[in-house]
Amino acid sequence: GGGHPGKAELQKARMRLSLQEHLWAFFQERVAIPSEEQAVARRAALDICAELRVFLHAKLPDMPLREMYLSGSLYDDLQVVTADHAQLMVPMILEKNLWSSIPGEDTIMNLPGFWLVRRENLEYFPRGSSYWDRCMVGGYLSPKSVLEVFEKLVAGSINWPAIGSVLDYIIRPVVPSETLTLEVQYETDRRLYVDFLPLLVMEDGVSLIAKPHRLAAERHENLWRQSFRVAETAKLRALDQEDAGCRCACLKVVKAVCKLNPALARLNASQLTNAILLLSEQEGDWTQEALADRFMQLLRALVGHLEAGRLPCIFSLKVNLFCELTPQEIDELGYTLYCALSDPESLLRT
Ligand code: GDP
Repeated sequence: GGGHPGKAELQKARMRLSLQEHLWAFFQERVAIPSEEQAVARRAALDICAELRVFLHAKLPDMPLREMYLSGSLYDDLQVVTADHAQLMVPMILEKNLWSSIPGEDTIMNLPGFWLVRRENLEYFPRGSSYWDRCMVGGYLSPKSVLEVFEKLVAGSINWPAIGSVLDYIIRPVVPSETLTLEVQYETDRRLYVDFLPLLVMEDGVSLIAKPHRLAAERHENLWRQSFRVAETAKLRALDQEDAGCRCACLKVVKAVCKLNPALARLNASQLTNAILLLSEQEGDWTQEALADRFMQLLRALVGHLEAGRLPCIFSLKVNLFCELTPQEIDELGYTLYCALSDPESLLRT
């Protein structure tokens, strides 16, 4: 106001200070997972992974797979609130001369970030030449069919009660589940969900996972999803390491906010990570003291991306990371975040 220059500024600074304090308190109390809890969850996932390896080697020695491994935020120290999920990556081996990948933008679906995997040379190498021909639908490798193969195996022919009693867990496949998920109860009140994620690593280094398009129309059924997760996570960590920054902390806070507020549950780790990476390109100060400022800037940026209906992936700008949200979901997310801009603390009261 007129006679008191700087008063508004002062008040703003005070508010910012308290948001800063609240964010770090929220981080300590709600976001961060005690290391003991993380260790026990990782242990449970590893035990299951080991059992599955033994089972698959014994039961299906000729299935062309590389060694399965665990991955996800639980292993990158990016999981928040509770240590309750992990992915079991199942890398499939494809014969180079029999399969080729076609980017989604070159298909009639025109969908960057998704790929078709086409069977080649059928005239010289007839159906059956590749183990994975059994999962071929209309000339393409079908992720849905691949998941069904694993589902039959995992839900049908593994004696989970027996394995569970040896490991002292209660294990059961989650049915129905869109992906293939095991529920592992490793203490009376602790559960871990392990997703099976079949994975193709194509010749050009493109990683494709068998995770269906969310708005699964029939014409999307053969699409493989490109995964940028390894690059995204590595980039975020590398930037933080260069300047002792708070990008990972900021990501964890906003992930927790989205996990704890049902209205924001549709925003996922990949979208949030990319929004932070995009912000990092224009904003240099990621010191711990700047957390509140960057958090607010991130919320504003997300509102902007939602208004545009578009969030590019920094590793492939033509990919729209909002392409699986309906217009209504985009509106609702945008509205919730827009309201939070004037009262960000409301996001922390959960
Ligand atoms: P969080 O689940 O929110 O803690 O985030 P994560 O970073 O662990 O991401 C897990 C999600 O990313 C799952 O929905 C996966 O299906 C998906 N995803 C995509 N690509 C990958 C990948 O290469 N590895 C893993 N673990 N998950 C991936």
